[in-house]
Amino acid sequence: MILALTGGTGGAKLIQGLAAEIDPAELTIICNTADDAIFHGLYVSPDIDTIIYTLAGLLDQEKGWGLAGDSFAALEQLGRLGEEMWFKLGDKDLATHIRRTRLLSAGHKLSEVTDWMRTVLGVKSKVLPMSDDRIETRVVTAAGEISFQEYFVRERWSPEVHQVFFAGIDKSIPSPGVLTAIRNARGIIVCPSNPVTSIGPILAVPGIRRALVESKSRVVGVSPIIGSSSLSGPAHKLMKVTDLESSAAGVAQGYADFLTALVIGVEDEGLQPCIEKLGIKAVSANIRMNSLADKRRLAREVLALV
Ligand code: GDP
Repeated sequence: MILALTGGTGGAKLIQGLAAEIDPAELTIICNTADDAIFHGLYVSPDIDTIIYTLAGLLDQEKGWGLAGDSFAALEQLGRLGEEMWFKLGDKDLATHIRRTRLLSAGHKLSEVTDWMRTVLGVKSKVLPMSDDRIETRVVTAAGEISFQEYFVRERWSPEVHQVFFAGIDKSIPSPGVLTAIRNARGIIVCPSNPVTSIGPILAVPGIRRALVESKSRVVGVSPIIGSSSLSGPAHKLMKVTDLESSAAGVAQGYADFLTALVIGVEDEGLQPCIEKLGIKAVSANIRMNSLADKRRLAREVLALV
């Protein structure tokens, strides 16, 4: 079994490539859940949904989230009725959140609901939330503390950030199967996801980081940063806040205790010596994934390294 750790948008691109290159049943995915939030009374798990929709072939590839061809009539009506509309939830997408919320309210764990959801949508890969416990990324800005979705979607990641922390993480435990998957994987992939707010929370769930350090398998990462910028979103800004250089070398530094190899952009070849000083093999490649062919090619390169 190949194991991948991921957030939503960037990670999903590589996951799509991996699922096309190996038997999807051979792929297990640990997903960030610290972006989860309640909207209109519904439990929304954006990274899990992006990964399941991707693997089910249902993702709106252009937006990078939500269901392809979805409409937004319910959201518009909710807006007319005075609900906030900044977090976009499509009409069909709402069904996912309604069903998940009902199952959680009936006492099922997030891991059980996720497994049920991926099965009914025909996804062969196992999708594991990092934890069944409620963990929430909080962003401390000059104007006060807000949730990750408020920072990322409502404020379009423009406020200056002083601190990022994960409320509830200390008392959390990995969801069933997570530590076993790390132990049994024949290779582990850290997707090109935000090192602070996507991979960061997964590593911070007590026990997960240690399991990765102790793993006998190779752990191969792909940088979400080229030069000093993210390919999308605020990873480069947030890395600075957490004292990591915003570069592929900073990504290597953040994962240095468990990473075997890091795939970096050809543009960053010059960083190879400084990454290799950390004991990590640095392999340069085209890490931009703009097409299915790009995703599959990068997935093949990563699989060759694990
Ligand atoms: P989120 O949960 O939506 O924040 O999604 P992720 O954390 O999985 O993805 C965000 C990260 O993906 C950002 O840091 C981007 O730089 C990275 N990213 C987006 N597209 C690409 C790509 O084509 N290649 C690589 N290497 N990284 C990408």
